Amino acid sequence: MKPIVYSGPVFGHHPTPEHHPEHAGRWTRLYEVLERHPGIILKDPVETGLEAVREVHDATYLSDLAALCNAGGGSLDADTWVGPRSLEVALAASGSALDALDHVLEGTPAFIAGRPPGHHAGRARAMGFCLINHVAVAARAAIDRGARRIAIVDWDVHHGNGTQDLVSAWPEVSFLSLHQDGHWPGTGPTGDVDGGRLRNLGIPSRTGHEAYLEVVRRLVLPWLTRQTPEIVLVSAGYDAHHEDPLGRLSLEARTYHQFAAMLASWCRDRTGTVPLLAVLEGGYAPEALARSVLATLDGLGGTEPDRLPDMEEPRFMLSQDSFLALTRSWRTAFPEPWLSAAGSGNGGQGPDDGADLAPAPPSPPPRAMPSDWPPARDDQAQAAGHDAAPPQPTPGDHYGGG
Ligand SMILES: [Zn+2]
Repeated sequence: MKPIVYSGPVFGHHPTPEHHPEHAGRWTRLYEVLERHPGIILKDPVETGLEAVREVHDATYLSDLAALCNAGGGSLDADTWVGPRSLEVALAASGSALDALDHVLEGTPAFIAGRPPGHHAGRARAMGFCLINHVAVAARAAIDRGARRIAIVDWDVHHGNGTQDLVSAWPEVSFLSLHQDGHWPGTGPTGDVDGGRLRNLGIPSRTGHEAYLEVVRRLVLPWLTRQTPEIVLVSAGYDAHHEDPLGRLSLEARTYHQFAAMLASWCRDRTGTVPLLAVLEGGYAPEALARSVLATLDGLGGTEPDRLPDMEEPRFMLSQDSFLALTRSWRTAFPEPWLSAAGSGNGGQGPDDGADLAPAPPSPPPRAMPSDWPPARDDQAQAAGHDAAPPQPTPGDHYGGG
């Protein structure tokens, strides 16, 4: 089944300062490859007004944000900036998520390829490049349409603190965040909150593809099953990719393909397909972002990425000893039986029982990059929708997150 993808030139109209990692060029490159991908249905973004997000965001915050844009733009904090049309752009991402709900409820997965990201934005606060919390807007709308159990999975490298703050007051919504342990913004310590309705998994830096997916199999999918959601929302950030300047988890495009495929398979295996909607969050290496989003879409669509597995050998990977130490440290944090039960490693006599917890052996080396991938840049598409030449991130910048 081809996923529906919402994207279009409006997302190029949110300027940020030179060298800011969340620049229009990341969207431009993504849109180039989306336009050429035969495995998706590409739809125009759906713009909307402030009324669509008033249930999620504070009225004074929204009016102040509108006033700053109307005055020509400026900074909300050291990381978060707006231009004249930034609120309109952010609302287009939220509006697209709202429009997509209709399609996903009919069984077609959808992806919102917009910007700026949203998962750090709180009720009355912009943060970490985020203005409007799109995934929370979608969750709130799903509740209004009668859903009583909504699960959000956030795989951005940063903790989805804005989303957690918002949904902690919404008993219909469960939330799970996988993020780099101890990374900005410093929230989301590993553990369960509110009986497991909110779950945070702090992943060590340089974990890599194999061990990360083992965590998904053992601590994400069982959690999802316990939540019995009627709809699954994904905060899909790509700054955990090994090429990204803001994260250090060493994931690859194939990691996102397999994660998305596992979620889509989980949704299809329920009684009546569970709707699945993903919203782009971070991801600041444009080429890696484009590869990873397309790999995600192939995973959501149930197809193999015939030309999109990651193109490099994994460079870093958590050792088996480190992985075992990590899972041992989580034994008191989670109720999963495999964490507390006696393992086979030493007969269950001590803390080292857990040889069965080791990640699977590394996969065969990825296939070589086809010479036509990624497709060559298209000058016309590259020029679409920019307010200014996109700044390029440079090493040494220290932006907080996104
Ligand atoms: Zn992020």
